[in-house]
Amino acid sequence: LPVRVRMVVGNWKMHGSLALCREMVPAMASIAHPAAALVLCPPAPYLGEVTRLATGSQVQCCAQNVADAHGGALTGEWSAGMLADLGCRYAIVGHSERRRHYHESDHLVAAKAQACLEAHVVPIVCVGESWIEHQTGQTEAILQHQLGTLLALSGWRGLIIAYEPVWAIGTGVAARPETIEAAHRFIRSRFAARDPVAGNNMTVLYGGSVNASNAANLFALPDVDGALVGSASLQSDALMQIYTAA
Ligand code: PEP
Repeated sequence: LPVRVRMVVGNWKMHGSLALCREMVPAMASIAHPAAALVLCPPAPYLGEVTRLATGSQVQCCAQNVADAHGGALTGEWSAGMLADLGCRYAIVGHSERRRHYHESDHLVAAKAQACLEAHVVPIVCVGESWIEHQTGQTEAILQHQLGTLLALSGWRGLIIAYEPVWAIGTGVAARPETIEAAHRFIRSRFAARDPVAGNNMTVLYGGSVNASNAANLFALPDVDGALVGSASLQSDALMQIYTAA
């Protein structure tokens, strides 16, 4: 059964370069320790380089996306099995930018998570409400719906969940700690309703404008196990400070 882990995941989005991989991985490897996972998500063309550079260190590699199929005539896609082959242990699934710009539905997100579980890649599944949904008090209803599709997967105990309120991503303003804790408690309760031990053991990350100044406060929340970090993950000093706070 999976256990709750402390974790900082840096999502570079479509930024970075070979030079950044070669700067960032050794820098992170010099501070990473077994008590908290340190995971980098470079763009797909750099996954091989980051995995190679991270070999033998505590730094782990994560894809930003993955296909829902294991193979086929699907130009431009890559499978979870290919990630596993590379030594890349994680994949982000259902990031709000994928849901928005590439029209990924809850159904497709669940299928991608399932493909990961079958290939022994850990899916980090992003959920979260929009600003209008937040403002109109629909957060729990939205989360309930997004999690419902995931709870239909027989392997749901193997998921990592990232709560990312869409309105806090890339804005520089994180959600308030009490808002985050309430959402995380709600998310955990949905899984715990199925299986109390597994619900308690789920790793639930927060994402949305986490930076070196707010990380410690967020990590102090009882139901927050770590962070999915976007912009701050492109600067090694900022990412180091966030990791140290975890
Ligand atoms: C993200 O990309 O998942 C994210 C949380 O971005 P940022 O930290 O820049 O808000």
